[in-house]
Amino acid sequence: MVKPLVIVAKGDDPYNTTKMALKRFPLPDLKGKRILIKPNAARLASPGEGITTHPSVVSATIDCLRENGAKDIVIGEGCIFGVDARDAFRMTGMEEISEKKNVKLIDMDRFGPAERAIPNGKLLKKVKVSSMLKDFDWIVSIPVMKTHMHTRVSLSIKNMKGLLWRREKAKLHHLRSNKKITRGYKELDFGIAEMAAVLMPDLAVIDGTVGMEGMGPAYGKPKKMGIVLVSDSPVSADAVASRLMGFAPEEIPYLQLSAEKGLGEIQLQNISVEPQDYLKWEDPFDLPPSKFSIPFPDVVVYDEGSCSACLSTLLLFLQKYHQQLDDYRLADKKVHIGIGKYLDSCPEGTILIGNCTSNIKNRGIFIKGCPPISSEIMRTLVLIKERG
Ligand code: SF4
Repeated sequence: MVKPLVIVAKGDDPYNTTKMALKRFPLPDLKGKRILIKPNAARLASPGEGITTHPSVVSATIDCLRENGAKDIVIGEGCIFGVDARDAFRMTGMEEISEKKNVKLIDMDRFGPAERAIPNGKLLKKVKVSSMLKDFDWIVSIPVMKTHMHTRVSLSIKNMKGLLWRREKAKLHHLRSNKKITRGYKELDFGIAEMAAVLMPDLAVIDGTVGMEGMGPAYGKPKKMGIVLVSDSPVSADAVASRLMGFAPEEIPYLQLSAEKGLGEIQLQNISVEPQDYLKWEDPFDLPPSKFSIPFPDVVVYDEGSCSACLSTLLLFLQKYHQQLDDYRLADKKVHIGIGKYLDSCPEGTILIGNCTSNIKNRGIFIKGCPPISSEIMRTLVLIKERG
């Protein structure tokens, strides 16, 4: 059996390193293919912060695909809730690349939904994706090499979640467990592996030029690696990237589940990696802290089963509005905030953020949304206060 091939390249310049990796990979003839490049450009972040894909990695990918016959290339992304795609595309540098390279840039969420049935789906029977996807027959996933507070790592498979349609992205966080089905795995990990069955990219180009460690996907520390990986076996690319980050691929639940489903190989001895001594570049990433800590000593957070969207919203909200929360302190002079789908108790007067907390909304100030955006949280708090 032919082993999947993963190329690893290392260098100081994101453009040259990506080109080096892609040149070493036997790309197919791409003449006539309609190609979607899916970077991670879903958040308001600048190149080099380790949050979004470096535009030079996208730029080099476009050039290499063109050298292999590609004419019809589009960059597409669906941003996280509350982020305006135009702002994100400008800030991440994707707008500039699209202009320079004369490549269309599209907000995938601007179009309607299309359903995809998941073969043998146990937790997910179907998912809604952007209807634009039908216009492409070759997809390149270009994620950033990151740790993730809920899934340990976020790489090329997980990056495809951005192609789910609008709020469908949050659906994977709502999945309720049936232990017989999930066998102790988190529903999110199980859902990602099932999603991958219908959203598998044709090529993975993993941007490890500057990754993120710790509290990824958005609040960790940038980690300079200078690495780019390329493979047409995305599960194997993610496995090798995980290993370079210091994790055994089998320790990454959604990779283990994807391999069990036959979506790709994660056993390193069954993957052909070039160069063979690639582990000389291993540089372990700090894991996300097991308990989420908020850098505001006067804020108490009750988090039971929140997803990264709500956690990110909460951090943004506190960064922006922490100074305006004096009216919402409880008897201990602290602001109490609850998030997450398993939260079932909290002190009276807690600010409850997100639809997941609706079952205990009578205990505090409930802010609906999935997640609500930070300005909306503040607006609702002020409105409630004014109404007395
Ligand atoms: S309400 Fe918050 S925790 Fe619940 S699914 Fe939505 S974003 Fe995630």
